Amino acid sequence: MTTVQTRRARYPDVRNLIGGERVEGKGSFLDVEAPADASLLSRVPLSTAAELNRAVAAAGAAFPGWAATPLKERVQVFFRYRTLLEQHMDELAGLVTEEHGKLPEEARAEVQKAMEVCEFACALPQIVAGEVLEVSRGVECRSDRHPLGVVASIAPFNFPVMIPSWTIPNALALGNCLVLKPSELVPLSAARLGELLTEAGLPPGVFSIVNGGQEVVEAICDHPGIAAISFVGSTRVAKLVYRRGTASLKRVLALGGAKNHLIVLPDAEPALASANIVASMAGCTGQRCMAASVMVAVNETDHIVTRLVEEARKLVPGRTLGPVISRAARERIEGYINEAEAEGARVLLDGRGVVVPGQEGGFYVGPTVLDRVRPDMRIAREEVFGPVLAIIRTGSVDEALAVENASPYGNAASVYTESGGSARYVAERVGAGMVGINVGVPVPREPFSFGGWNESKFGVGDITGHGSIELWSRSKKITSRWNKS
Ligand code: NAD
Repeated sequence: MTTVQTRRARYPDVRNLIGGERVEGKGSFLDVEAPADASLLSRVPLSTAAELNRAVAAAGAAFPGWAATPLKERVQVFFRYRTLLEQHMDELAGLVTEEHGKLPEEARAEVQKAMEVCEFACALPQIVAGEVLEVSRGVECRSDRHPLGVVASIAPFNFPVMIPSWTIPNALALGNCLVLKPSELVPLSAARLGELLTEAGLPPGVFSIVNGGQEVVEAICDHPGIAAISFVGSTRVAKLVYRRGTASLKRVLALGGAKNHLIVLPDAEPALASANIVASMAGCTGQRCMAASVMVAVNETDHIVTRLVEEARKLVPGRTLGPVISRAARERIEGYINEAEAEGARVLLDGRGVVVPGQEGGFYVGPTVLDRVRPDMRIAREEVFGPVLAIIRTGSVDEALAVENASPYGNAASVYTESGGSARYVAERVGAGMVGINVGVPVPREPFSFGGWNESKFGVGDITGHGSIELWSRSKKITSRWNKS
């Protein structure tokens, strides 16, 4: 389990945040490794249900005071917090790069997105003002928003700052107390966010962090003191959390994995399309739920394929392409490529076996493009989560749509064309919650909500923007009549 006795960790052990105190882990620990060179960064506690119980008790004690604080006062914390995020941009981005491996500019982009969600939370008083109407003579109906209580959020490894931040400001500004369970692979950034929230003036217990893995997640699902859960991660675990959380009658929104298709028509602008497709497949080393995974080429698109291979070839692992998260992830990704090649796919660009000088222990996979992939191959159906593009050739837009529609996922889909009519035809028919037109990573910006369809999301609503208001609050409807005399 731990090798801390033989290797020096760069940071002290990660601590939980419970009742405003940074609390040492009591049980076992897991090593946190830097994906760039496999060096030891820290150790993260694998907390137990007992530690979760303590965090929920502290959050429950903080809830009445926080819920009773007017919304306009609560958001003052997030004005200060946003400033702190900006001031600590380089430090936070540095932590993300160390523990996740992504490039410094990619890491800064996720801190910027965290700031954007925070700005939405700061604007909540302008957005959630209640409604009131005289519904008949002397009778008035009004509706207001109320928090749910203690809520929890479970995060994946791929955006150590941004994904916890999809939840933190909105859930808290709406008056809830939140327990965060970060990914055990990237716990350092979340710990720093907790410190900055405290510095911004959040009262003790309103925000807690309980580190760990499966045991804490299961305890969150079962805990009677937790009213709602947001989960982001793989579809396998999203289903487990959705089933178990709703079985104990919680509100659950569980975002799962993805398999995003880019439908490329022959009239697509070649320079824009090829650069954009490569940015989508290889940005953040393909470890994005919005990453391009399959290019569905319609008819004659060889000129675009040739160009995108040349674009992808320019990426240099260790310099313009980060590592993947772990040794196991690298083996899984290379396994998909091996299998596809054995089944007849043509390897146009091969990222297997990459070694970065000076970072020989790092978990690198180079950009990879596979042509002549068939829809029945595993690489065409399953989430690969690496810098790999599978190209499926089709003879018509409807055939391309059939390939996309057959996927059980439905996070994102894009179309590349210069024809408005074709773009609209495809956008209306793809089975995905977020659609790009000449945009390979169609993340909706605030105040638009983030969320996919089908096996990419379980539960009602979306996780950010307006969707998050429904997720993290409930409405109270008051009807009143007063005796006129
Ligand atoms: P993961 O499902 O392995 O882990 C997510 C969380 O679940 C972690 O906190 C982990 O500790 C916990 N967990 C893991 N196994 C568990 C189990 N058996 N029981 C209970 N909890 C468990 O996901 P990951 O590898 O960290 O993240 C990558 C995945 O997340 C990809 O599938 C990606 O597509 C998905 N993702 C989706 C979105 C989206 O918006 N839909 C966004 C980001 C990432």
